Amino acid sequence: MKVLVCDPISATAVQTMRARGLEVDVRDTITAEELLAEIPAYTAMVVRSRTKVTRAVLDAASHLKVIVRGGVGVDNIDVASAQAREVRVMNTPAASTDSVAELTLAYLLALARPIVQATLSLKAGKWEKKKFSGAEIQGKTLGVIGTGRIGRAIARRAAALGMRVLGYDVAPGEPAPYLTMTTLDELLAQSDYLTLHIPLLESTHHLVDADLIAKMKDGVRLIHCGRGGVIDEDALYDALVSGKVAGAALDVFESEPPKDTRLFTLDQVIGSPHVGASTKEATARIGDEVAELLINFE
Ligand code: NAD
Repeated sequence: MKVLVCDPISATAVQTMRARGLEVDVRDTITAEELLAEIPAYTAMVVRSRTKVTRAVLDAASHLKVIVRGGVGVDNIDVASAQAREVRVMNTPAASTDSVAELTLAYLLALARPIVQATLSLKAGKWEKKKFSGAEIQGKTLGVIGTGRIGRAIARRAAALGMRVLGYDVAPGEPAPYLTMTTLDELLAQSDYLTLHIPLLESTHHLVDADLIAKMKDGVRLIHCGRGGVIDEDALYDALVSGKVAGAALDVFESEPPKDTRLFTLDQVIGSPHVGASTKEATARIGDEVAELLINFE
């Protein structure tokens, strides 16, 4: 099997695949144009979130049998076109759960205690003690929208820190002692902090719009380590300016890198460039799972 690795995966995974007889080419900075030209030679491709597997790529991929996405969603792959060409699409859904949950927890605390803004102020030579007083999270309510793998992992951590945790999901799943499931409206009305862990689907595109924000508690703080496109960023900007939303922590954006950078002009916004799964542990787990899927691919 000839494998084209289009996005970074662990060196161990590449070694394991080669040791098991797979011919692996690592081209983890490949451009869209190069991909179109080179994909006809490969039977397998590995992508994370950077590479877009469009219909045009699939049209060109005359020998392709399998695409492995290292990570959770497959929204960067035209899955319908892949299926129509009998190309299998697989992913590694559980490998990054704990890393994304821990980033979410870091943001939860950084919204309660403005350590990012305080650091910038200190580095600018200031001593603004009053400006950076914060709040405790214990006793506060966290609303988790999407209580799948990551939503539950953050719910469990937040409950352990003394938060009341409300959850909403279209498919609620098994009850859990650390999580009280409720309606979306109730969750919005009661939550001091809100975190989103739902996939980007047609039904979730701009789910968080001006109407939904209007139902939130005044002064809510919002964390988004899910998928860009779920929040209407213009509506969020307006809500931050008006004070309806007191703070936001964003790891994902509608376009990446973001075209509209107005949000970053606001002090109450902190963020990162889609690094939820970027830890050495998640990278290793993703690599191991990718290698295993391809080694066992029939
Ligand atoms: P999951 O499939 O285990 O959970 C998603 C949950 O969302 C499911 O329980 C589903 O029923 C629910 N859901 C779907 N539509 C909904 C809606 N309209 N309202 C409420 N709930 C809805 O997925 P997961 O592993 O927990 O991952 C969640 C999301 O996190 C992924 O879709 C992915 O986009 C994102 N993610 C981000 C990063 C990052 O680097 N920031 C890394 C991994 C995953």
